[in-house]
Amino acid sequence: MNTVYLNGRYLPADEARISPFDRGFLFGDSVYEVIPYFRGTGFRLQEHIARLEHSLRAVRIRGDLDWVGILDQLVTLNGGGNLSVYLQVTRGDSGSRSHVYDADLEPTVFACCAPVRDFASIATEDVKGLVAIVTADLRWRRCDIKSTCLLPNILVVQQARDHQADEALLLRDGLVTEGTSSNVFVVRQGVIYTPKRSSEILGGITRELVLELADENGIQYQETDIDYEALMAGDEVWISSSTRGVLPVTVIDGHPVGDGEKGPLWARMFELLTRYQRKLMTGE
Ligand code: PMP
Repeated sequence: MNTVYLNGRYLPADEARISPFDRGFLFGDSVYEVIPYFRGTGFRLQEHIARLEHSLRAVRIRGDLDWVGILDQLVTLNGGGNLSVYLQVTRGDSGSRSHVYDADLEPTVFACCAPVRDFASIATEDVKGLVAIVTADLRWRRCDIKSTCLLPNILVVQQARDHQADEALLLRDGLVTEGTSSNVFVVRQGVIYTPKRSSEILGGITRELVLELADENGIQYQETDIDYEALMAGDEVWISSSTRGVLPVTVIDGHPVGDGEKGPLWARMFELLTRYQRKLMTGE
């Protein structure tokens, strides 16, 4: 797990060096992706690359590398299996500190791996219901860009931890946007509700997959506004992310969600998602 990729080279993590004048370090002038590999295969890799390219274009960072080639090679060098790959592209090293940048800068590209649990190997009954708090969404207004400016997310997830909670759900202008590192779903009378895609949320790869699986399996869903009352009135609340799959939230702001147990529709979606993942891993 020790080999990283930096600007065209694969090298041991402790040999990787980045300039303090790198704009990613100075300004958070950079974007990223986190992509799980299960049994050595990228999970919705093309979708992750498309989102990376969206982020790069939106902030005008150059980047037309063979992303799949770079990441596949990194995973192989780290022994394959179940790994989460972190990929960061900064605008590059300006050599000095200036807000204004030279459009010709060579981007800094860094990638590393961390272990990840494949959710297909987890039994439904072993999944723990999460505890969440709701707090103000203090982020900028381009949350569709996967920027490394994560200070608001960091402060708020720490606030959750201070309250012995696992995740913070964010509220902007009275409406639920998403979690600090997840998308959010509310179930009411068998229908899944989730905020519609906009610049206020990250277009989660797992969010798309959940909606796709709902569609294919005759489960009704609606992309719509969700206010605090609607969130608290949910029979079930879920969060989703690529590394965690779909997880049930059973307590919000100290109140049980529905009957306080993991819900039946969550269990069904978890099963659909794990089946999808298993199929991808075994090629069946
Ligand atoms: N929203 C935010 C703010 C996130 O950081 C993440 C995790 N990348 C998600 C949603 C979920 O996205 P994905 O399903 O692509 O992991």
